Amino acid sequence: MTQQIPQVLRGQEKYIELTAQLMSQRAASFPPKALVRTYGCQQNVADGEKIKGMLRLMGFAFTQNEEEADFILFNTCAVREHAEDRMFGNLGALKNIKRRRPSLLIGLCGCMMEEDNVARRVRESFPFVGLVFGTHSLHHFPQLLYEALLGDKKHVVERGVDDMTLPEGLPVYREGSIKAFVPIMYGCDNFCSYCVVPYVRGRERSRQPQHVIGEVRQLVQEGYRDITLLGQNVNSYGKGLDQPVSFARLLQQADELPGDYWLRFMTSHPKDATKELIDVMAQGEHICRHLHLPFQSGSNRVLREMNRRYTRERYLEIVAYAKEKMPDISLTSDVIVGFPGETYEEFQQTLSLIREVGFTSLYTFIFSPRPGTPAASMEDPVPAAEKSRWFTELLAVQEEVAAKRCAGMVGDTLRVLVEEVAKNGTLSCRTGGNIVVEVDGPASLVGSFAQVRVTEAKNWILKGTLA
Ligand code: SAM
Ligand code: SF4
Repeated sequence: MTQQIPQVLRGQEKYIELTAQLMSQRAASFPPKALVRTYGCQQNVADGEKIKGMLRLMGFAFTQNEEEADFILFNTCAVREHAEDRMFGNLGALKNIKRRRPSLLIGLCGCMMEEDNVARRVRESFPFVGLVFGTHSLHHFPQLLYEALLGDKKHVVERGVDDMTLPEGLPVYREGSIKAFVPIMYGCDNFCSYCVVPYVRGRERSRQPQHVIGEVRQLVQEGYRDITLLGQNVNSYGKGLDQPVSFARLLQQADELPGDYWLRFMTSHPKDATKELIDVMAQGEHICRHLHLPFQSGSNRVLREMNRRYTRERYLEIVAYAKEKMPDISLTSDVIVGFPGETYEEFQQTLSLIREVGFTSLYTFIFSPRPGTPAASMEDPVPAAEKSRWFTELLAVQEEVAAKRCAGMVGDTLRVLVEEVAKNGTLSCRTGGNIVVEVDGPASLVGSFAQVRVTEAKNWILKGTLA
């Protein structure tokens, strides 16, 4: 074992060693192979990268092919019922593979595993699952994996551990070499009435600023170009620290690091978004002029029922300040359609807010009742078919808004990051505002910044030429 074991994994060394030994004897081929499939948000992606980092420490390589995997782990998302159904569908499909290859270990982790009803369903209906662990158990993963591989206990389970340990220093395995996620905090204290996150991810805890800055510095030195600071509500970063630091200050410190890179962050909660943050963005050298600021609803009554703790007017005030300081700012957001009790008139207020702000893009969701949240037991008289119609109406409005915004960019010269060669052979690039631009050019540009002149707008995608 050549890699150094971090402090947070102290006590786990022997399991790392034992798992590596066990797998070298029993895997179908060498090195043993793991398939880690992550559902949901960037926070889950970041957790999946840590799990993969630990698997690599234990000698695993990675595959996307279920047939050749020795270990399959689904890193689950609980935010909406749809994500849960998809995971259960995919899990059911593994039953036959497990029957044919009993040595295959199947595991589940992530937010869904912190829900009692889900844990019960897994135990009762999916007995071939050998390992279950929740969002607080990352630093126990080697031990849990080893015990599950031994198979002494039919089902190794660790859930609901109320543990404030931060998974600091865990090895991280990143798929790409251009973009990286850096969690700056974990959990959420906001309890929006529809949301399961505070129940499955626990209370807010912030990483020490020097750890965050150290990780960003290292990523920049390794050549990463697009670094996103992550948290459920980055604007409340730092509150529990011995020496509290505001998110704006943390962002400023990250921006002061030398190098050629972009910095992004998500998610900003409008109730805590400050003018100080906007000022830091406006003055930043590396900070993308992109603000992801979920508004969820344009109606004050619905916002109150959602327990969002800001008003439509307050939201528009922050947006106006951001536009004043950065006229080229790109705004994106999350929105929920069909919250319990929402009327068509209130939904129209959501549409009017979308038109007023002019978002670059939106993550759009139909309300999904999550067991245990207050909204799940609210009266919800609007039928699903009606909500679907509203949803379609919303998509049409957003397409119109995004297309208008993109059309206004034709003729501009923009700095982009060349991300990859697309299937059609063009270079797929991204602006700081998170808009995709297709250009013709050599593959050798992938991973570097370039200037492009926008020649055409195709709805919400731009076409351009290298300037
Ligand atoms: N912390 C972020 C915030 O407050 O903006 C969002 C985190 S959540 C994982 C991502 C988005 O999922 C939310 O902004 C919301 O729009 C959506 N969402 C959360 N719970 C939902 C539910 N029960 N039904 C539909 N959409 C939901
Ligand atoms: Fe969920 Fe609200 Fe927390 Fe976002 S701020 S994770 S929507 S409870």
